[in-house]
Amino acid sequence: MSKTSVLSPALARLHPDYVAGKVAALARAVSIIENHRPGWDALLASIHPNLGRARRIGITGPPGAGKSTLTTLLARAYRKLGLRVGIVAVDPTSPFTGGALLGDRIRMEEIASDPGVYIRSMATRGSLGGLATATREVCDVLDGFGIDVILIETVGVGQSELDVARTADTTLVVLVPESGDSIQTLKAGVMEIADVYAVNKADRPGAERLRRDIELMLTMRATVATKEIVANGSKQWRPPVLRTSAVKDEGIAALLEAIDRHFEYLQSSGALQVRRRNRLRERVMEIVEQQLRQRLWHHAETLSWLDAQLPEMESGTATPFSIAQALRTRSAALMADT
Ligand code: GDP
Repeated sequence: MSKTSVLSPALARLHPDYVAGKVAALARAVSIIENHRPGWDALLASIHPNLGRARRIGITGPPGAGKSTLTTLLARAYRKLGLRVGIVAVDPTSPFTGGALLGDRIRMEEIASDPGVYIRSMATRGSLGGLATATREVCDVLDGFGIDVILIETVGVGQSELDVARTADTTLVVLVPESGDSIQTLKAGVMEIADVYAVNKADRPGAERLRRDIELMLTMRATVATKEIVANGSKQWRPPVLRTSAVKDEGIAALLEAIDRHFEYLQSSGALQVRRRNRLRERVMEIVEQQLRQRLWHHAETLSWLDAQLPEMESGTATPFSIAQALRTRSAALMADT
């Protein structure tokens, strides 16, 4: 058995509290895993058999579109259904962690005191894997704890936000009438990840026009995609486009219903299993890459050996390729070591 599957005494004490549903233990587990403190991997491994129960819902869209407000309303609606909710607020641009980001999110305060809601904000984690990986790991901890619905909210539509959104089962893309002109310019990736659209701020002019523009775009894409879908026999999901007004608390029930329908589609079409299997595959690849990278570059001897080869490369007697080859050969034993 590998050393990573054995919990240290401190973690072995934490684990029963976590399994028993103690929120303090959840918070500690999240911290340990988010910061990759010693034993984090053993802790995640111990949680693994209990994963897959939570629904992961990504909420993405341009800043100011109303994502936080909608997230709060969705959380409240799920709470009314008796479900436990986790909110993971991801901000790749924020140098802060913990409360700093949430401080700005006043609306969340009303649900933050609810013991059935667990809120965590995350910012860029240094060199230890990307933000999407970190988010996925934190979601795993929430999932293993027994949280029913995890809302993963991102601040914008950059590449790292898209990567984060891809870790969800269902992705909600929030747009606002003001973004109507820019729908053509919205990154293609945003449209690709959308399972449900919310045209928020529907209390403002232009919402219906934007809704129709998105529908039109979906029709055009569907025509292009039909051949492919017919060819691989999969059932098609056309993302519903809904109008919401978060400030007026309008359209939320329909939004919830659309998210539910998407989840049912995922289950009945087999797409959920495919998504989750892909996630597992990616996860293993990520872990291997991370471990290899760490093992190789955190090895002082390798680095000094590499430095010693620089003069040969400078003089042209060796190339980066020949040195890479030599480095792989001499590190083979190191990489194989478990
Ligand atoms: P985020 O940056 O996407 O998370 O957006 P927020 O939820 O922080 O909302 C940005 C601003 O838009 C806040 O001042 C909200 O009160 C406001 N807002 C959110 N939803 C609506 C809405 O449906 N209609 C209007 N008029 N304003 C809204």
